[in-house]
Amino acid sequence: MIVGLALAGSALAMTLIVGVRYVLASGAFALATRWRHPGLYAGLDAQIGREVRWSLASAAIYGVPAGIVAWGWDNRGWTLIYRDWGAYPLWYLPLSVLLYLFAHDTWFYWTHRLMHRPYWFRLAHAVHHASRPPTAWAAMAFHPIEALTGAVVLPVLVFLIPIHWAALSVVLTVMTVMGVTNHMGWEIFPQFIWQGRLGAGLITASHHQRHHDEYRCNYGLYFRFWDRLCGTDRGVGRFKAPAAQSLMADGGGPRVVAGLDRGDAGKPA
Ligand SMILES: [Zn+2]
Ligand SMILES: [Zn+2]
Repeated sequence: MIVGLALAGSALAMTLIVGVRYVLASGAFALATRWRHPGLYAGLDAQIGREVRWSLASAAIYGVPAGIVAWGWDNRGWTLIYRDWGAYPLWYLPLSVLLYLFAHDTWFYWTHRLMHRPYWFRLAHAVHHASRPPTAWAAMAFHPIEALTGAVVLPVLVFLIPIHWAALSVVLTVMTVMGVTNHMGWEIFPQFIWQGRLGAGLITASHHQRHHDEYRCNYGLYFRFWDRLCGTDRGVGRFKAPAAQSLMADGGGPRVVAGLDRGDAGKPA
């Protein structure tokens, strides 16, 4: 009974943490968007409302398993999360971060491809693609079935791959920042990152935007490894302001965001 209450309390606390983290991160990048590209989200209020509601529902789905595992770590010695800096060599710290990101990326790539099968797309993934174009608030806008596929990743990995709690915090930060910025509608990273050598292997908004434009390509999360290996990588896309049409009608001409014009956006496949 007491254990049950403690587990429920931990699950609730983690749900609140994930929800507040989402609101702070998406809110901060939405503010940055308003500052850098005023009007980019004009006319998207109803869509943003949906994105926030789906994302807050996802917060509970992410929070419950994470809260249960966190309780077990703290009270029962579950998981391979360690506190002692000397438990593994220091070089293992960055390696563990990479291992977690690569494992998450692999899981995401293959479940994401499954989500694009007609049955799963209609059942679940259509919720995420209802954001056209996505905004900074779409980071966790997933149907509960899809949110569940994401929610199990870290709670399983912490039983398989040792990681220091601080390295796990880095993983969570990367997850949060990339989840938000990849949907923001503009590229926050300098050009040398997403167009240079790093960009050949890393996924930023310019890459994921193309997935939202063309659907059947660019399925990855952090790395382009699986997309390249499986022939689903179409390279980085281009951004266009959603309000460009109305601006043209106003006689203002097409507005180009961040110097890019999404002239080659493909049709949904
Ligand atoms: Zn997306
Ligand atoms: Zn998709």
